[in-house]
Amino acid sequence: MSDTIELLFASANPHKISELRKILPGHIRLLSLIDLQHLKELEETQSTFEGNARQKSTFIHKKYGKNCFADDSGLEVEVLNGAPGVYSARFAGEEKNDANNVNKLLQVLEGEANRKANFRTVICLMRNGEAFFFEGVVYGQIAMENRGKSGFGYDPIFIPDGFDKTFAEMASEEKNSISHRALAVGKLVDFLTKIN
Ligand code: IMP
Repeated sequence: MSDTIELLFASANPHKISELRKILPGHIRLLSLIDLQHLKELEETQSTFEGNARQKSTFIHKKYGKNCFADDSGLEVEVLNGAPGVYSARFAGEEKNDANNVNKLLQVLEGEANRKANFRTVICLMRNGEAFFFEGVVYGQIAMENRGKSGFGYDPIFIPDGFDKTFAEMASEEKNSISHRALAVGKLVDFLTKIN
């Protein structure tokens, strides 16, 4: 039985925090920026997932003097050379929100036969001033139309390889067992368990 490990997640996003709490094993106690009352959104001004994850975790590590991790994720579409990528949350521009982002992507891919895409998450752990990176990728296809109601973001149009339903048609436990975020978090947990 391993000792409890306390881990600070540099995020105040309740959706992400609760998703991570479901993924993490019982011996890891997740704290977040909500516990620190730091509710201001963290800057993400880099052009890569690694850069943004490092930017957010470095900022919190310096500000509070605590080891912590941050993540950055997005959807990469093969025929769009990896777009929307780090801009996934802002794909629809001014009108950005989940529904508009999804509709814009469906429009851009109208008539396109190659619908290959993947979600990617990069986690940066800042530990005593040193950065460690963990990546998770899930491959799949962009559906022809919205399907399903659960999840968030591009879940209603992402069909992971080996399945015939979208992430939004899955129970959260099923998505969490195969998702990009779960894969990256699994690597982080393995690392923390080994060094603690
Ligand atoms: P974040 O860096 O995890 O906040 O993700 C940035 C954006 O990528 C989100 O606003 C979503 O549009 C998209 N995204 C990331 N992960 C997922 C997911 O698991 N499902 C659907 N969309 C996601």
